[in-house]
Amino acid sequence: AAAVPAAVYMLQDQEAHAAEMERTFIAIKPDGVQRGLISEIVSRFERKGYKLVAIKLIVPSKEFAQKHYHDLKERPFFNGLCDFLSSGPVLAMVWEGEGVIKYGRKLIGATDPQKSEPGTIRGDFAVVVGRNIIHGSDGPETAKDEIALWFEPKELVSYTSNAEKWIYG
Ligand code: ADP
Repeated sequence: AAAVPAAVYMLQDQEAHAAEMERTFIAIKPDGVQRGLISEIVSRFERKGYKLVAIKLIVPSKEFAQKHYHDLKERPFFNGLCDFLSSGPVLAMVWEGEGVIKYGRKLIGATDPQKSEPGTIRGDFAVVVGRNIIHGSDGPETAKDEIALWFEPKELVSYTSNAEKWIYG
C-alpha cells in the first residue's frame, strides 16, 4: 500500500476529534448587549476552555424570535418574550467542548436570577426573569435545532486550537 504521510493521519485524528465534540447555542440577549456584558460573558466561556466556533450580532425579527421560543408559545409571557428578544441586537454564538451543553447551563445559572447562584452569569448580572441576559440550549436536541436555526452550516468554523492538548490532555 502507498505510504500515507503521518501528517495526514494527524489531520484525520483532529477532524475525528472535532466531529465528536459537543456544540451548544448561546445567545446574549438585548439586555446583556445593551448593558455592555459581551466581553464578560464571552470571557467566561473562553477561560473555561470552550471553543468559539461561530459568532454574529443580529437583530432577530419577531417571527424569528417566535421560532426560537416555539416551545413556550402557550406560556403567558411568550409574546412579551418575543417582543423583547427582537427589540435589539443579540449576540448569537456556538461554543464547542466536552459537556458544553450541560456545563454551559451551569455557567449561565437558573432561569430566574433570584434563584441563580452567585458566580453564575445570571446570578452575578441579572435580577428578574424577564431580563436574564443570556440564553443557552437546554439539551442535545435543542442545541442541534437552535444552531441550525441561527446559523448556516458554512458559518460554523472548524479549527484546532493550540490550547486543546492543554485542556483535554
Ligand atoms: P431558560 O432560558 O433558562 O432555558 P425557559 O426556556 O424556561 O428558561 O424560558 C425562556 C426564557 O423565557 C427565559 O430565559 C426568560 O427570559 C423567559 N421567561 C421564563 N419564565 C418567565 C416568566 N415567568 N416571566 C417572564 N419571562 C419568563
